Amino acid sequence: MIARYAGVIVDGKVEALDRVFSYRIPAALADRIRPGVRVRVPFGKGDHEKAGYVVTLSDRTDVPDEKIKDLLGVKDLTGDAAEIRVALAAWMRGEYGCTMSQALKVCLPPAKAAQVRIQRILHLAADRDQAKALLAEAERKKHHAKARLIAALIEDPSVPQSAVTGRLQITRPTIDALVRDGVIRVEEREITGPAQPETERVKITLNPDQQHIADEIWQGYTHGDSRPSLIYGITGSGKTEIYLELMERVIAQGKQVILLIPEISLTYQTLMRFYRRLGHRVSYVHSRLTPAEKAEQFARAADGEIDVMIGPRSALFTPFAKLGCIIVDEEHDDAYQSDQTPRYHAVETAFHLGELTGSLVIAGSATPSIDRYDRAMKGELRLFSLTRRAHEGALLPDVTVCDMREEMKNKNRSIFSAPLWEAIEGCLERHEQMMLFLNRRGFSGFVSCRSCGTPLTCPHCDISLTAHRDGRLRCHYCGYTRILPKQCPVCGSEYLAGFGMGTEKAEELVKQAFPGIRTLRMDADTTSGKDGHSQILRAFGAGEADVLIGTQMIVKGHDFPAVTLVGILMADLSLYSADYRASEKTFGLLTQAAGRAGRADLPGQVIIQTYNPEHYAIQCAALQDYPAFYEQEIAYRQLMHYPPCGYLMNVQFASPDERTAERAADDCAAFLKRQPETSAYKMAVIGPGSPHVSKIKDQYYRHLIVKAEDKTALAALREAILRREAGPRVWLTCEIR
Ligand code: ADP
Ligand code: ZN
Ligand code: ZN
Repeated sequence: MIARYAGVIVDGKVEALDRVFSYRIPAALADRIRPGVRVRVPFGKGDHEKAGYVVTLSDRTDVPDEKIKDLLGVKDLTGDAAEIRVALAAWMRGEYGCTMSQALKVCLPPAKAAQVRIQRILHLAADRDQAKALLAEAERKKHHAKARLIAALIEDPSVPQSAVTGRLQITRPTIDALVRDGVIRVEEREITGPAQPETERVKITLNPDQQHIADEIWQGYTHGDSRPSLIYGITGSGKTEIYLELMERVIAQGKQVILLIPEISLTYQTLMRFYRRLGHRVSYVHSRLTPAEKAEQFARAADGEIDVMIGPRSALFTPFAKLGCIIVDEEHDDAYQSDQTPRYHAVETAFHLGELTGSLVIAGSATPSIDRYDRAMKGELRLFSLTRRAHEGALLPDVTVCDMREEMKNKNRSIFSAPLWEAIEGCLERHEQMMLFLNRRGFSGFVSCRSCGTPLTCPHCDISLTAHRDGRLRCHYCGYTRILPKQCPVCGSEYLAGFGMGTEKAEELVKQAFPGIRTLRMDADTTSGKDGHSQILRAFGAGEADVLIGTQMIVKGHDFPAVTLVGILMADLSLYSADYRASEKTFGLLTQAAGRAGRADLPGQVIIQTYNPEHYAIQCAALQDYPAFYEQEIAYRQLMHYPPCGYLMNVQFASPDERTAERAADDCAAFLKRQPETSAYKMAVIGPGSPHVSKIKDQYYRHLIVKAEDKTALAALREAILRREAGPRVWLTCEIR
């Protein structure tokens, strides 16, 4: 469909921001008009020329033909940082269907004047041997914070204070105490001039594959190819080194860089890798900063004190004056999808911001999202592949797929297949480390009555409770807990039992099966403390356990050179969720998990236990073959008209009153079926129905799905839905995928 009309918000008072005026798009401008584009329009009685932003496109309008005016032209952005952010908000409004003020809240986060212009750098004052002795002493006395800081300084003799107080959670008193003891020295310096790496580092020489990709990307960028690049590179293939190389080139041009990484991968080690190469004009944000701390970081960026901002999706809105490069690592990660209004996707938003600012944009992953890989196949993104590990001698692990049905036939009822059992024994004998991955926490999956079959469910959510080892049942949606009842609430039977298995149970079974084995467990239950997550990673990295058992938290980009075995206990858990992306998620998890084995000089072994050994997601993960997976998956999406081979709009209604949610959904479905668009553009309205979990935290949910081939028409329909009164006590969200 070619859009004939543009909805424009005209520059003016803030209160008028969401008044959208319709204009006709002259044919000559048709291919330049998109949401976020700045335009010139005739406005008011005298048709005075004003500037505005396009926020929506449609092919019909309620304005009578004789009254509608033509757009006058496109007005280029001047490049002013604030103006670009307003343009980004206008795009966001059109793309995600929120209000302008909601979009501006995200795109123009509050900044305050920077107060601290002094950076504090910590230097190791003792020599290395002394420091090592002090470290041993601190560990013996269980002075954990002190030990963490000394260990960090042994690795890097000078680090910015903000890095250790942030990611390492070290407080001022700890620092002050070490200063008094003469172990560290604090240098205060004013931040001026370009980045200077603090300590001399041997810069890794890129291998020919890396060098080629870096050069190609740079060539394209400097010769006006404005397409973003997608680097598909298997785990450990050296993507990060390519990012570093290109970041250096951009900084050398006097421009700034935003690097997005999922929060869970933003560890101290990751951060130090960037500090070492790029110096201390690097900063970072994360979700535990207070609003004031975050504003402070953004103010430093606005004032030109730093060149690089690293962080999760919100780092994208860092107000750099001359943004030159945006890199999104692990671009497939679900954390890039915002779960609050506006429900923006950070990768798509990064692409648009890149376009507005003329920045170099790079996304990278070992398991790219099907959506973006598909766009790369169509030439909308530049595609680069790295299929070998960068580290010399590091080989891909040896993967075995184990059919658990066969194990059952052979009377093996334990959670370990024979090959996994053998591999664990071998690993223990050789004193190497292993990871066991199970994508469910808790003790057992759900608890139900063996006599009448009634499951025990949460009173606030439509979901069964999960049993935990302490004897309590928990709801993983709202946190409700209760003790295990003695009798079935329905029939009074005493036979209540758990089915399935979570990480907690797996840990217990591992301990029973291999007496003396040292275990660590990482899941939402063990990492809820302030720094539980980094504590566990540190302990495992220091060799304090033989096995790390955990949920998907353990598969995300952590590098443990001593891990030679990865066991995937139930590979099928994520395969049959009610999501069209179930295979994509399963493939991603398995591939990333397998990628954890054998990263350094020791060969790796991976064992995947499954009831579906023939499924292509499992087969392709075992072969670490993303392109093969993509071929199969895209054929399935094509067949089903699922994204990216069609669009889905998910309209969700929530209310504390079940009838109200139901009525609102029925109403909306009837409205949609009356719309000319639904028949004219081959749209299908599916539902309304109950989502997979239809009650969460005492809110009842109903949803309906509109499938369409044309995104613009779908967006116009969304405008119409949002314009309708949602009705009292109904919460409405409308998301297009
Ligand atoms: P990715 O980001 O793709 O997972 P990294 O950039 O982290 O990969 O590289 C994986 C490992 O290989 C790291 O330990 C890194 O230091 C090393 N490495 C990367 N590039 C090279 C190179 N050209 N020569 C030697 N080692 C390299
Ligand atoms: Zn019962
Ligand atoms: Zn609940």
